[in-house]
Amino acid sequence: MAENEKMIDGKAFADALRSRIGDAVNILKSVHEITPGLAVILVGEDPASQVYIRNKARQTIACGMESFEYRLPAETSQADLLTLIAKLNSDNAVHGILVQLPLPDQIEEQAVIDAVDPKKDVDGFHVVNTGRLATGAPAMVPCTPLGCLMLLQDRLGDLSGLEAVIVGRSNIVGKPMAALLTDANCTVTLAHSRTRDLPQVCRRADILVAAVGRPKMIRGDWIKPGAAVIDVGINRVPAAEEGKTRIIGDVAFGEAAKVAGAITPVPGGVGPMTIAVLLRNTVIAACRQARIEELVI
Ligand code: NDP
Repeated sequence: MAENEKMIDGKAFADALRSRIGDAVNILKSVHEITPGLAVILVGEDPASQVYIRNKARQTIACGMESFEYRLPAETSQADLLTLIAKLNSDNAVHGILVQLPLPDQIEEQAVIDAVDPKKDVDGFHVVNTGRLATGAPAMVPCTPLGCLMLLQDRLGDLSGLEAVIVGRSNIVGKPMAALLTDANCTVTLAHSRTRDLPQVCRRADILVAAVGRPKMIRGDWIKPGAAVIDVGINRVPAAEEGKTRIIGDVAFGEAAKVAGAITPVPGGVGPMTIAVLLRNTVIAACRQARIEELVI
């Protein structure tokens, strides 16, 4: 297979997904008189976070939804942040609440995650949603792993019986990815820094998901010929041009693309899916809160 045919184009998939989200929003507005609303809270002035929330707001509005942005100073107290979250929890115009992480040191991240109403937890980080996902109940599912699953199902169809290896066991990517692939009837291995002989473990994967945060760690000879490789990693490294940086993944792309049957590039693979799935989760949250049938997106 030619290498360009192997490429999983996350940007094109995310564009199409946002277009379907726009259609669903139109139905919610015209039939049910509901405009889904997403509130995004940023504490402090982290430049990368500012770019993320600007993109989220722009795409939220482009899909016809309402965007509520809260930019709080870096010295905001935990009590003040929790008061804002409580206000948004009881605001009927707000269907999804996202608190941009990381938070400044004086604020305990877990306390903030726990404070968001699970029904409005469009990031899927609340323990109620984590538990629901783990037990196969309807949940708000974390955006990045759900985006990976969508890309895999789009490319491979039914995933039943496939061997899936996920490298990285974080709460936001690795663990929910394992739950989703288990639900999709894969045989799942969740690998991490203590895994013995990681290359050999990876070689048995029909589906290999890399979520580590180490540039080019997964080499071409760790990949089973024909496997689908999903690279979640975002690693900023110096670019050829002095003083500039560029983003690369956890997979040595050039080597891996020769062996894999399908592979996501970085950038342009998993990255664009995350915000699109966040918007999809907001629409689903709006349907559930209004107790109307969930729209298929
Ligand atoms: P974390 O740092 O929370 O977790 C990293 C995981 O990788 C840990 O489970 C760790 O193992 C494992 N690990 C570290 N070193 C090794 C090693 N040498 N061999 C095997 N496993 C190892 O990262 P995240 O899950 O938050 O993020 C992972 C990557 O994905 C990052 O590059 C991040 O930027 C990116 N990301 C991209 C997103 C997107 O939208 N595309 C969204 C979220 C994250 P252990 O548990 O044993 O320490």
